[in-house]
Amino acid sequence: MTKRDAQRTGGGVADKLHVSQASLIRVFPRRTPLTPDDDLAFVGGPPLFPVPARRAHVSCLFTWDRREAGRLAEEWAAQGYKVELGGPAFGGESSEFEPGLYVKNGATITSRGCIRHCPFCFVPEREGPLRTLEIKPGWDILDNNLLACPRKHVEAVLAMLNEQPRAARFTGGIDARLCRPWFAARLAAMRLDILYMAYDMPETWSAVERTIGLMRGAGIGQRKVGCYVLVGYEGDTLADAERRLSMVLECGGMPFAMYYRGADWTGKPPSGWARLVRSWSRPAAIFAKEINDAQRDDLLNLSGKKL
Ligand code: SF4
Repeated sequence: MTKRDAQRTGGGVADKLHVSQASLIRVFPRRTPLTPDDDLAFVGGPPLFPVPARRAHVSCLFTWDRREAGRLAEEWAAQGYKVELGGPAFGGESSEFEPGLYVKNGATITSRGCIRHCPFCFVPEREGPLRTLEIKPGWDILDNNLLACPRKHVEAVLAMLNEQPRAARFTGGIDARLCRPWFAARLAAMRLDILYMAYDMPETWSAVERTIGLMRGAGIGQRKVGCYVLVGYEGDTLADAERRLSMVLECGGMPFAMYYRGADWTGKPPSGWARLVRSWSRPAAIFAKEINDAQRDDLLNLSGKKL
């Protein structure tokens, strides 16, 4: 799992124990944009003040955080808390999704697993075959592969999104190969903050291009048609990665570079890759590239040159 792994934290010991957010301390080795922020969610060691619960689950998402997670488990246990260590990085079982428990309120997961077996992704191994879950409310859909679910389920998710106080986000990323015109039309007719698809493998380009075209053709603006572009995976070069990112931008999508993070990830991409990821992960910088290109085109046209 590479691209959306910061978002897929919905499983773990609590699922099996049927404990709720109100009685379980959740401890995370690092903060992500979706880390819960309620009073029983902690990033790091125990606080100096007493916590009104005694059971703690140290939930580890990233394999490279396992050592830190183990250290935190010992630290919380030393303070007298009954601690369990688990989460996806330890092969924690993923079952039903409990809103607010391992991801902050507003994020939701309506299915687990995936129909595909992409070589760089941990989802098939950790979550197994695709299965739908009870649809719990939220406006940010984190599913691994929502569009692989039966249409009836996808329709029910869209209906749930229409009841939410905020515009919909699809940050789990949709599978461009499975996107159909009806889905694009439905998104265009609802409040949409952003949708992401994934351009992980060069051979999926035609599906990505088609899906960006479907979204834009349905009237969805470019800034809402996001596309995670996997970079830095086996044999990739900076030039090839830059070319794929530019292709997404030029065909009307909003590219976001996602650097490949394998199980032995150390926390920092090499400097060339870090620069590329920085310049292709902020919308302002990405659109500045487009403006610069347009300006360059204007200049070339003014000077009578053709591209
Ligand atoms: S489609 Fe996405 S979630 Fe499914 S295996 Fe591939 S990368 Fe993983």
